[in-house]
Amino acid sequence: MSFASETKKEICREELKNSCCRKAQAYGLWLFTRGFSLQDNAVMTENGSVARLMAESAAECAGVMAEMSVSMHRKESGVYTLSLPGEDNRKRLLEAFGHTGREVNLRLNRANLENECCMRAFIRGAFLSCGTVTDPQKDYHLEFSVSHRRLAQDLVTLLEEAEGLSLQPSITRRKGGCVVYIKDSEQIADLLTYMGAPGASMTLMQAKMVKEVRNYVNRTTNFETANIDKTASASAKQVVAIHRLQETVGLDNLPEDLREMAYLRLENPEMSLRELGEALSISRSGANHRIQRLMEMAKTE
Ligand SMILES: [Zn+2]
Repeated sequence: MSFASETKKEICREELKNSCCRKAQAYGLWLFTRGFSLQDNAVMTENGSVARLMAESAAECAGVMAEMSVSMHRKESGVYTLSLPGEDNRKRLLEAFGHTGREVNLRLNRANLENECCMRAFIRGAFLSCGTVTDPQKDYHLEFSVSHRRLAQDLVTLLEEAEGLSLQPSITRRKGGCVVYIKDSEQIADLLTYMGAPGASMTLMQAKMVKEVRNYVNRTTNFETANIDKTASASAKQVVAIHRLQETVGLDNLPEDLREMAYLRLENPEMSLRELGEALSISRSGANHRIQRLMEMAKTE
């Protein structure tokens, strides 16, 4: 099951207590679908819980019976089709929420959000019927697909007003309709919790944390690898120089401080300057100084 389907299922599990909220949720559920019309438009959803909630809410809030059927197109999931047979039934549903179905511009009727508690219920309904959220392993993206531009703008305003959230939704056109979307992972997590999907929110935050840890580890190991390469190539040059001295002046003829450094480096090409210094009980810069003297000597020999 997709992350979006899991999320919707989780939201549907919470039953709203207040009748004002159940109405607001029903409004959100129907308003954003093709079924909110005088015409006989079927509503399709892959989510059984959403289909059931829509049918129940139409019965509870408008006293109309939706017809529901399911067809199994694919092995793992079916497609649920809801329809409201009879124009009088469709009219009754519209009127229950203060609409006529003849509006030129479909707008949000705030009268259906009676109390402060109802905003959350409405947003839940809207997300269930026209929203989706991308698997956080792939991307951070939550969106509402809205056919009417003014209605999309009303939804943006409402999301911005939602109490306790600092949502900054964007809006764009797609396929003749509009998409209201959020890309910020924290805003998405907050909205999921707000709508009643704390489990999905947690999954998102965990995915984000794993991603951050992975990036951090990659940055650290890349940095280390780069430093090891640097040490290795510097050390290789030093070893070449010391071999050259070995063949020309002979290491045993070097002054004592350079001789011990030359042997130490030959035996330990992986050591950093700091480690070379430690082995001889001198500072890093002392070790560097001796190495540089060896390199200089090898150049002139
Ligand atoms: Zn309420």
